[in-house]
Amino acid sequence: MTTNQQAFDTARAIIPGGVNSPVRAFGSVGGTPAAMIKASGPYLTDVEGKTYVDLVGSWGPMLLGHNHPAVVEAVHTAVDAGLSFGTSTPGEAKLAELIAQIMPVERVRFVSTGTEATMTAIRLARGATGRNLIIKFAGLYHGHSDGLLAAAGSGLATHALPDSAGVPEAITSQTLVLPYNDEEAVKQAFETYPDQIAGIITESAPANMGVVPPKPGFNKFLRDITTQHGAVFIMDEVLTGFRASAKGGWGLEHAEWTPDLFTFGKVIGGGLPVASVAGKASVMDLLAPVGPVYQAGTLSGNPIAMAAGYATLTNATDAAYATIEQRSTQLQTMVGDALNAAGVNHSIQNAGSLFSITFGTANTPVIDYATAQAQEAFRYGPFFHAMLDAGVYLAPSVFEAWFVSAAHDDDAMQRIAEALPAAAQAAAKATN
Ligand SMILES: *Cc1c(COP(=O)(O)O)cnc(C)c1O
Repeated sequence: MTTNQQAFDTARAIIPGGVNSPVRAFGSVGGTPAAMIKASGPYLTDVEGKTYVDLVGSWGPMLLGHNHPAVVEAVHTAVDAGLSFGTSTPGEAKLAELIAQIMPVERVRFVSTGTEATMTAIRLARGATGRNLIIKFAGLYHGHSDGLLAAAGSGLATHALPDSAGVPEAITSQTLVLPYNDEEAVKQAFETYPDQIAGIITESAPANMGVVPPKPGFNKFLRDITTQHGAVFIMDEVLTGFRASAKGGWGLEHAEWTPDLFTFGKVIGGGLPVASVAGKASVMDLLAPVGPVYQAGTLSGNPIAMAAGYATLTNATDAAYATIEQRSTQLQTMVGDALNAAGVNHSIQNAGSLFSITFGTANTPVIDYATAQAQEAFRYGPFFHAMLDAGVYLAPSVFEAWFVSAAHDDDAMQRIAEALPAAAQAAAKATN
């Protein structure tokens, strides 16, 4: 039998750090990562045959749990019909129409990753306005394109990297990084750079520095100020979309307003690589071949990925969202009770069914990147490893959201409940 250690050693001899995305590494929590070979419902199984209750859900996509029968069947049918055609296919319009039925968008363009979606949204904002500057908020993550890596949350926060090397200053100088939830800073930026700001990009509810809900009215303020200055408002729902609620983070606002552009990803591919930029026709129709803003992708709208996304969204019923909501609330209570019983100072923040915990923050709510980073992050490693030992797979970073699925049943919740007391004790004993 291969052990996790052997799998990790083999991987890191050929793949930098042994991972194909740094957030999967155990850098901040220490220890050897488990190498998974199977997933079903709420469970993951590693190469040693150990099963875990999964609270990462492939970082968001597995809304219905792993290997949902309807999604698997749709994928099998699509595979039998051919892997990729390099032409348009009916499945693309079908998924696009479904997205437009759920969210207030008039056009949808599919890409393969959230990074491409936000990159395209930024290019559209610049193409639409003829301006260069983009406002982003510190601690929010919008993928790993050059201009958006400034102060970009979880992956960089976890590894204590200020910003990425290899990004020219000429590019980051076009990104204005402002503190989250700070209306004054946004007003100031529009005053300092009149007619130069192409757009604002924000997560509808930030979930890449832990979950940090927007202050009431903050998103509407961003909508209003961009309208006032002729800038494009981009709401990045790659993580929150079809997840924080049926209508994403935007849905939590019960908003009368809409952003110009949304970006979606994660859930809309149901575990296969799908993301999209979507929004008002007036902006979206600037995309080639209709308009002058270029964007392309060999595997964009891949038929198997479209089938997985469509099956996922059609099975994301009201009942599924109600289950996720209920399990999330139950889990937050369980975690809070366990930490309280062990005397661990903490807080739990949520945006719909997405939540995260922070340590040492009971009296200082996390509202932005500075307050997120000020927490007692050192308590998370021991907490994480106690959960892992007991068969509960959490994200290996305190700066990530917890992902509950519709497949988390009583048995899975019971296993988490049994794991929590020791983990809470471990957090209580942790030293910096
Ligand atoms: C995950 C994420 C992205 C990037 O998506 P990838 O598919 O990993 O490129 C962009 N924005 C947000 C808010 C995300 O959470």
